[in-house]
Amino acid sequence: MEQLKRIGVLTSGGDAPGMNAAIAGIVKTAKYNNVEVVGIKYGYRGLLSNDMEVIKSDQIDDILNRGGTFLGSARCLEFKEPENVSKAVQNTKDKGIEGLVVIGGDGSFRGARDLSLAGLPTIGIPATIDNDISCTEYTIGYDTALNTVIDCLDKINDTMRSHNRCAFVEVMGNKAGYLALEVAIACGADSVLIAERSFDIEKNIVDVIARKYPDKKYFMIIVSEGVEKTMLKSTKEIMDETVKLIKEKYNIELDAKVTVLGHIQRGGKPTYKDRVAASRMGAHSVELLINGTGNRVVAINNGKVVDYDILEGLNMNKNIEDELFMLTKIISI
Ligand code: ADP
Repeated sequence: MEQLKRIGVLTSGGDAPGMNAAIAGIVKTAKYNNVEVVGIKYGYRGLLSNDMEVIKSDQIDDILNRGGTFLGSARCLEFKEPENVSKAVQNTKDKGIEGLVVIGGDGSFRGARDLSLAGLPTIGIPATIDNDISCTEYTIGYDTALNTVIDCLDKINDTMRSHNRCAFVEVMGNKAGYLALEVAIACGADSVLIAERSFDIEKNIVDVIARKYPDKKYFMIIVSEGVEKTMLKSTKEIMDETVKLIKEKYNIELDAKVTVLGHIQRGGKPTYKDRVAASRMGAHSVELLINGTGNRVVAINNGKVVDYDILEGLNMNKNIEDELFMLTKIISI
C-alpha cells in the first residue's frame, strides 16, 4: 500500500480550549511522516464551500497555547443531507485529500462516520468542555473549563461572603453534569443540581441553607445548564422558589443573586492537561490514517490513547459516578 500524502483537518461544533493544540499535534505528526495537512475552515461548511488550504509549519508555531480554534468552527446543518456528504468527498478528492481528522463532539462524529462510509477515511477527536462524550473518560477542553469555572466561583464566593448573600451559579455542560459536579466539589458548594439526579428545592437547597444559618450566612448553589435543558426550570426560577420557601418555612430573608457564567467557560489558554491530551490524540489520529484506518474515534481511557469504531463509540454509555455525587452531599454539611 502506498503511503498517503495529504490529509485534512477541521474543527466542528462548539469550540474548546486545546483544539489548537490538537491541530498542532496533527500537523507535526504528519510532517514527521512526510504527510501534508490541509486546514478546512469553519467545520463542515468549509468542506462544502471549498474553503481550505495547506497549513504551513509557521502557522502552527504559536497556536499550542492559544484558546479557540484558528481554523474556526461552525454548525452546518446542510451537511446532514446525503448529497452534501458526496459533494464533500468529491471536494476533498479534487484537492488530493486522502484522509480527514474531525475535532469536535458527538454530532461532528456522526458527520465523520458519514464521510468514512462515503469513501473518505475519517477519524474523530473528542473536544468539548462538557466532557459528555461516552466513549472517552476525557475530552479536550474539560480541564481548562474546570479551572476557569473554579476561578470564577472563588471570586463570586468572595463577594457573597462580604455581603451575606447566596449565589446561584449556572455552569455549562450541555445536558451533562460533570462540570457542575466537579466544580462544586472543588469549591465546597452548599448544593449542586444536575439533570442526571432528581432534586427537591426544599430538601436540597432550603433545608441545607437553614441547617447552617445563622452560623454561616453566605452560600453557593451550583446549577448545571442541563437542569433547564431537560427539566425546563431556569436557574432564576430555582432561586425565586428558594427565596420564597425559605422565608415561609424558616423566616430567613435570603439575599440571592443569579450568575450565568456563559461563554467565559469556553475560552482561555489550555491547561497542561489539555495540551498534552490534545497532542496525544492528534498524533494518534494521524497514525491511524497513515496505517490505512478510517471510521474511528480516538479516546483516552485508563490514561491510554485508544480508538473505537465511530458507531460503537457513539453507542457507549458513560454515567455520573455515584461516589462523586455522594461527595457533593458530604461536603455540603
Ligand atoms: P458537536 O459536534 O459539538 O456535538 P453539533 O451536534 O452541533 O456539535 O454537530 C456539529 C456538526 O456536525 C453539525 O453542524 C453538522 O454539520 C454535523 N452533524 C451533526 N449531527 C449530524 C448527523 N446526525 N449526521 C451528519 N452530520 C451531523
